[in-house]
Amino acid sequence: MKLSVSEIFHSIQGESSFAGWPCAFVRLAGCGHGCLHCDTAYAEAPGTEMTIEGIIGRVDAIGAPLVEITGGEPLLQEDVYTLMEKLCNRRREIVLLETGGFLSVAGVDPRVHKIIDIKPPSSGVSEKNHQENIDLALQSGKDESGSFEFKIVVADRPDYLWARELLTRTGLADACTVMMGTVFGRLEPRSLAEWILEDRLRVRMQLQMHKYIWPPDMRGK
Ligand code: SF4
Repeated sequence: MKLSVSEIFHSIQGESSFAGWPCAFVRLAGCGHGCLHCDTAYAEAPGTEMTIEGIIGRVDAIGAPLVEITGGEPLLQEDVYTLMEKLCNRRREIVLLETGGFLSVAGVDPRVHKIIDIKPPSSGVSEKNHQENIDLALQSGKDESGSFEFKIVVADRPDYLWARELLTRTGLADACTVMMGTVFGRLEPRSLAEWILEDRLRVRMQLQMHKYIWPPDMRGK
């Protein structure tokens, strides 16, 4: 079993309810969704073929309390499911999955904490958000299908209004954590903070912590 890997690195988890924890990131290669604000376009390039054992060895060498499988779009590679299962079986670290939200997470090991993007209109791909993931999260409290959180990164006021409507219509923010942040350099964090407070929106605001610690376009951080 092999996976195509863009990079494996040690950094601070920067944008989820786990933000601030040291984390081993496994970035799988390939995506193809074409989001306009993609900040990891380099992950589209062909990666290095690695065995699952080789990847786990690198994760062990890093020795962080979290491991995050990300991309690119990690769910495009069939063997990622086995990788996540093996990582969970070890019970050494919390296992996170970060996905673009276009593919179903139904087959992901329930022990994995799923961080799912919801892409707003400025991404150019909002029509590709996979509705089933929202439905799964809404059911998750009833059937123990694991932990979900969603991430919405907005670039402007229309994105925010779109997200507010979605959350109001679905009740998603009552069912699980919804993180809301800004596209770095596109929207002043203060504007988003004021909109959230004004609307009493039940979301957690976040900034991409790693982009404030290191240069925002730095790879491997
Ligand atoms: S899903 Fe993620 S990696 Fe893929 S294009 Fe969109 S932002 Fe980039």
